[in-house]
Amino acid sequence: QAKDKGRNAFQFYTADMNQAVEQRLTIERELRQALKFGQFELFYQPFVDFESGKIIGAEALIRWNHPVHGLVSPVEFISAAEESGLIVPLGKWVLKTACYQAKGIQKALGRKFRISVNLSARQLSESDFVKTLDGCLNETGLDPKTLELEVTESTLMEDAESVILKLREVRRRGCSLAIDDFGTGYSSLSYLKRLPITSLKVDRSFVKDLPDDEEDREITSLIVAMAKSLHYEVIVEGVETPEQHAFLANCGCHIGQGYFYSRPLPVDHFMTLLFSDGSESI
Ligand code: C2E
Ligand code: MG
Ligand code: MG
Ligand code: MG
Repeated sequence: QAKDKGRNAFQFYTADMNQAVEQRLTIERELRQALKFGQFELFYQPFVDFESGKIIGAEALIRWNHPVHGLVSPVEFISAAEESGLIVPLGKWVLKTACYQAKGIQKALGRKFRISVNLSARQLSESDFVKTLDGCLNETGLDPKTLELEVTESTLMEDAESVILKLREVRRRGCSLAIDDFGTGYSSLSYLKRLPITSLKVDRSFVKDLPDDEEDREITSLIVAMAKSLHYEVIVEGVETPEQHAFLANCGCHIGQGYFYSRPLPVDHFMTLLFSDGSESI
């Protein structure tokens, strides 16, 4: 009987596996089509300078305009894109589109404006990553000093040495480098110190229960103090309330990002926001 159960369990397992594999293949095929038919779009969420209260830049966040499901969040498809390798062409599209749109925003504003782009580990591990970056910068004529790349701690843990070399090349071109979701990975401070990064983005899990949660108050204050002593710029993600904003401003954070200021917006809405708000040059 136990054996029967075992066999049934195994059958269920393979059925689930098949389903999972099939689902994966479907999403992979759909993603490939989506890229081909231009169903991806970049939304922009402002970076707000705590001191001036002005918008000094924005993060580009991908969305999938699915013909049936509507606007699909990257949470739903980035990992599938990473596992299938499709993140490589998709990431190139993101980088190029962001550079192109950044250039457009700068032209409209008549000055520099910072745009931040998320990178996956898989993209950085490509041997021609730096060449791709150069291609995007050359083709769009974007000033590299206005481009920031965001990588997570886990990206940096993979194949550390070759990643560090590429990141140095990125920095040599004048682009900035941010560690995204900071505090959720396991990077040691001595490791961090070896990286050519310019900003830390404090993960929103630490911000969520501010200012009431005492532990989170201690943690954010500590991260901010540490980052500042290492001369990193501090960006906080997920600022949703005026109380969080006030606490973080008081902590000495440099830049805030979150629904309190604005949700991520389609590029035309973002431009409207920029022009109504009066942003500041970086
Ligand atoms: P992330 O890079 O940490 O981006 C911040 C996420 O937090 C965004 O989710 C943003 O919409 C959300 N967010 C911003 N403010 C608030 C807030 O006040 N409250 C809450 N609850 N959430 C807030 P989104 O756009 O769904 O993106 C999720 C993740 O998908 C990103 O996290 C990033 O890891 C990944 N991603 C997005 N676009 C790209 C891309 O072009 N390439 C790659 N490789 N990954 C991307
Ligand atoms: Mg990010
Ligand atoms: Mg983040
Ligand atoms: Mg995050």
